[in-house]
Amino acid sequence: MASTANALSLPVTRKITVGSSDRLAPRLPSSSSVSFRLPAELKQVRLNVTSRATRVRICASTTPVMDKAASEAGPRAPTIVDVDLGDRSYPIYIGSGLLDQPELLQRHVHGKRVLIVTNETIAPLYLDKVTHALTVGNPNVSVDHVILPDGEKYKNMDVLMKVFDKAIESRLDRRCTFVALGGGVIGDMCGYAAASFLRGVNFIQIPTTVMSQVDSSVGGKTGINHRLGKNLIGAFYQPQCVLIDTDTLNTLPDRELASGLAEVIKYGLIRDADFFEWQEKNMQALMSRDPAALAYAVKRSCENKAEVVSLDEKESGLRATLNLGHTFGHAIETGFGYGVWLHGEAVAAGIVMAVDMSYRLGWIDESIVARVQNILKQAKLPTAPPETMTVEMFKSVMAVDKKVADGLLRLILLKGHLGNCVFTGDYDRKALDETLHSFCKS
Ligand code: NAD
Repeated sequence: MASTANALSLPVTRKITVGSSDRLAPRLPSSSSVSFRLPAELKQVRLNVTSRATRVRICASTTPVMDKAASEAGPRAPTIVDVDLGDRSYPIYIGSGLLDQPELLQRHVHGKRVLIVTNETIAPLYLDKVTHALTVGNPNVSVDHVILPDGEKYKNMDVLMKVFDKAIESRLDRRCTFVALGGGVIGDMCGYAAASFLRGVNFIQIPTTVMSQVDSSVGGKTGINHRLGKNLIGAFYQPQCVLIDTDTLNTLPDRELASGLAEVIKYGLIRDADFFEWQEKNMQALMSRDPAALAYAVKRSCENKAEVVSLDEKESGLRATLNLGHTFGHAIETGFGYGVWLHGEAVAAGIVMAVDMSYRLGWIDESIVARVQNILKQAKLPTAPPETMTVEMFKSVMAVDKKVADGLLRLILLKGHLGNCVFTGDYDRKALDETLHSFCKS
């Protein structure tokens, strides 16, 4: 097993459940940093996570992955990835045609009132379908909806108020369920609204972008932007379930598809070398929306995220590694204006900068730098920040990053073999300066 250099300290024993019926994609060998042994009843999972090469042994029970109704549905039976968080555990259903399986959603609706939160782009495409899925054969449930303007620039307190206005005008009570129908912006806003309306109501995620299916809908981070920084106001709030109907990706614009792939690439780099190698071989299939390739990428990404979140829900260490490239990327989004570059595009450029810095520190091999450039180019993602970004712009935004502790900016950097990273403030400041100057004209 490859050695992992990782400056995190973690609880040593946690239970994690990763069950899936992967009918959609080829099986992969286990990764260099995570290995699975799979006897019939019990899975043993070993992860390398600390610099002291502590092995965290995680026991995971095999769960039934299909219920009766789902298995009768044959080829549309969902893959299920369980996020194991004790009494806040929940399933992620993944598959094609899941919005045509009302029982999947209905079993997670509490009470008789539902509020769907969506936006003006997604509403004409999927609002009727989701309303039908929630109500068919279920006459006791009534569904309201609120349609927000579309875009990252509307992920703010003013627009969030429209959700509360609708909920209060509709006299929703504590037993209601909020349903987020859309990409990461809607998911984050609806989740935060659910966390705070009447101090917390039920919440379901129906993510419809690659970004939200592989990342933002899983793990319970919710929130809105402040003009001084992204996602600075929010809450950890877990949903009842996440329902990922991969068919919704058929209407997603190409640029949005590519943007989401930045997060898929991230999982490979930080913790799953085999997944990265699979992506190198299958990037063209992902870009051309091959359903099996997309379903596999979503599933493997959700498994990676579920594992990390189960170990470190509130981001005391390990979870921060999911932010590879995000500190640089948030600076691009904030400095350049929200929504000008897509989130994943900014993250892609941020990943290149983090990898450049890791190489300058002597922590990774040159070949990793080249492979990262290559895979991002294949995904038609940026490999450098916008030309108008200056060193000062980066520094001023990075100074208010959530990962600053006691005045020290901690970063996620690659270290060692592919698939290993560190979250640390212990690096030579000169390397950060050199990276910023090499990517900025002034
Ligand atoms: P988005 O929500 O803005 O969606 C992108 C665009 O695609 C929008 O115009 C949307 O209306 C449209 N769209 C969505 N689904 C569609 C579909 N099926 N067909 C056609 N059009 C569709 O952006 P995103 O990339 O999904 O998410 C980015 C947001 O997610 C950012 O705000 C970021 O901060 C957040 N995020 C949160 C987390 C988290 O852990 N909570 C993680 C990553 C990103």
